[in-house]
Amino acid sequence: MLNVNKPKVFLQKPLPQDIQAYLDKHVDIKIWDKPDALTREQLLKEIADVDGLLTSGTAINEELLEQAPQLRVVSSISVGYNHFDTKAMKEYGVIGTHTPYVLDDTVSDLVISLMLSAARRVPELDAMTKRGEWEKGIGESMFGVDVHHKKLGIIGMGRIGETIAKRAKYGFDMDVTYFNRSRKKEIEEKLNINYQLMDDLLRESDFIVLMVPLSNETKQLIGSREFQLMKSSTIFINASRGQTVNEQAMIEALQTGEILAAGLDVYEQEPINEDNPLLKMDNVVTLPHIGSATSETRHTMAMLAAKNLVAALTGEGSFYAVKELQGVKVRQ
Ligand code: NAP
Repeated sequence: MLNVNKPKVFLQKPLPQDIQAYLDKHVDIKIWDKPDALTREQLLKEIADVDGLLTSGTAINEELLEQAPQLRVVSSISVGYNHFDTKAMKEYGVIGTHTPYVLDDTVSDLVISLMLSAARRVPELDAMTKRGEWEKGIGESMFGVDVHHKKLGIIGMGRIGETIAKRAKYGFDMDVTYFNRSRKKEIEEKLNINYQLMDDLLRESDFIVLMVPLSNETKQLIGSREFQLMKSSTIFINASRGQTVNEQAMIEALQTGEILAAGLDVYEQEPINEDNPLLKMDNVVTLPHIGSATSETRHTMAMLAAKNLVAALTGEGSFYAVKELQGVKVRQ
């Protein structure tokens, strides 16, 4: 039975038992636990009378806010929040929270595995071995390229960028440089890495990792001009958001040999369309947006999102409001 004194929240999917038990103590929860996917129409109905919403990639825009007159907090189980229309949320007095820090190491591990996989052609040669095509001693046709001691350029030296730099510098003896909107001198000193202007980084790096949030500023940050600046031996990694890259320009750069290879976790359209040429390319490693997807980290993220939701709704304890919505006056 619903308790009138507790805030009401809607969970778009069931969460692990301990997290639901935590939420149960503080809020009244209703959960979408039906086998069919939650449609937008159904979601709008479900949130008509709730104070809080726990979600991951759902677009929080004017249309939704309009239909949820009591909504005060949207808590996302993700660090990226490009699905939040922060301008509209501010106008409606709705706080948005996210889950920074707890996934940095996990996402960085995945980025390193994309670098290694693309450079050493792991998926391609694994598939070849399993097809029974390993018939004689290996020759040049199966050679990859080294990762260690190469030059890595990271675009976006934020929380995750820094943990990638640490692994690359101290795990693989790489020469690490970065480009970021604001210069991070303390990270340069701590990790002994260098700042470069973006064009210089693009021209000189053997590996380029894109790790910026998706925003109006970063949409298609990397396009044909940027791929043309890269070396023909460059391996390009994107684990940020698909739309930070002009995907058609990347496909052309890979097809024409403008760059050597790519390791991708994110795409312009997700799930990726089955006729996307990237899926047919041996020099591209394709993963289904699994940057933070380990059991431990996804559990930690969900618990943090639950705690953010409770703290923001009850005013007790701290929570991670997204940058643009910090200090927003929440509607009553
Ligand atoms: P963060 O700490 O906010 O770092 C982002 C960095 O990008 C900041 O240093 C920021 O600079 C910089 N930046 C923003 N706009 C820029 C621009 N126009 N040019 C250059 N640099 C710019 O975020 P994070 O936690 O590292 O996460 C980064 C992004 O990774 C997330 O937003 C998300 O989209 C993505 N991600 C993907 C996965 C996955 O599953 N593949 C998992 C987690 C995160 P300032 O310091 O100047 O603001």
